[in-house]
Amino acid sequence: MAYDPENIFAKILKGEIPCDKVFENDYALAFNDINPQAPVHTLVIPKGEYISMADFSVNASEELVTGFFRAVGETARQLGLEEGGYRLIANTGENAHQEVPHLHFHILSGRPLGPMLSF
Ligand code: AMP
Repeated sequence: MAYDPENIFAKILKGEIPCDKVFENDYALAFNDINPQAPVHTLVIPKGEYISMADFSVNASEELVTGFFRAVGETARQLGLEEGGYRLIANTGENAHQEVPHLHFHILSGRPLGPMLSF
């Protein structure tokens, strides 16, 4: 599957549609989810054309992999989530119900989140 440069997160990265920005550096952009599932629900996306974790983990440079993962941690830190804790989710592919084909990590927090999966 080829990367779709018109997906919604690609448009956010290009500045074609707005987002509620939380954090940005050379490697990543973090913004609040438009349909939050918890009091804190922030998405972190890499700056690059990667469909999913499967794609990113194989094809991204060492620098981008490192920079992106540091940015995920930094976003959570800046949101003040380290003390209370938070959950990371990266839905990948059909079984995980990935809707947007640009890698994104969900940061969820702000209340006890309960069991890991709901069906
Ligand atoms: P996933 O199912 O893991 O692909 O999650 C996609 C997420 O993107 C969902 O939680 C959506 O609410 C969120 N989303 C879709 N469009 C936007 C947008 N324009 N701005 C912020 N979040 C969005």
